[in-house]
Amino acid sequence: MDSKKKYIIGNWKSNKTSSEVEEWFNTIKGLYEADKSIKLDNLEIVVCPPFVHIPQAKKLRDSLALPIKLGAQNVSPFGFGAYTGEVSAHQLSEYLQYVIIGHSERRFSFAENDEILAKKVDQARAAKLQTIFCVPDEKTAVPRSVEIVAYEPVWAIGTGKTENPQHASEIAKSIKTTYKIDNVIYGGSVKADNIKSFLTTQDIDGVLPGAASLDPSTFWEMIKSATVSY
Ligand code: PEP
Repeated sequence: MDSKKKYIIGNWKSNKTSSEVEEWFNTIKGLYEADKSIKLDNLEIVVCPPFVHIPQAKKLRDSLALPIKLGAQNVSPFGFGAYTGEVSAHQLSEYLQYVIIGHSERRFSFAENDEILAKKVDQARAAKLQTIFCVPDEKTAVPRSVEIVAYEPVWAIGTGKTENPQHASEIAKSIKTTYKIDNVIYGGSVKADNIKSFLTTQDIDGVLPGAASLDPSTFWEMIKSATVSY
């Protein structure tokens, strides 16, 4: 039996106002309290809010004592200094432990290439952030020292169409072998009713839901579906 933890990493993208952030955490707290006997030991639950909401999310998470880690959706390829509009890895590390790098929306809409992404990974590692590196297939380069790879076929992101779990698991295995990486997760229209089909495969170590992480009840349903031993 695989005793490794499974990751559930919610990517909020550019969504939510500060009052919606507060409502999300309070609702999760209510659901957690109502399900007090739930065992979350086999899960690593992470939420990635937009930069502007990260300090508020940390405050809420801490005051409500929720077993949820925080991540960022992006990081600067540079350190401190004259980089207007950027947020550095060291700044993020005051608030959170994880960072998503190379999401397909960053690659396509913000022209992030392999060179920029490798610099981001270097910055994140120097600040001791855990990197979640997204790739659309098994042929895309993965920089050294990445901890988690997220396999996200572009056609499955935000479309409601999902990759075949068995095929996704084979791709995950191929990425693990090529890059000597222990953790490969899947992203692409993951929801409460399909999360298990991915988590029960041999080589998928977690999921990266976008849209389904926005609603706290749906996110909680996904967590509940994942609280089984694999
Ligand atoms: C994502 O944000 O990486 C993602 C896979 O989004 P969705 O779950 O909405 O397809």
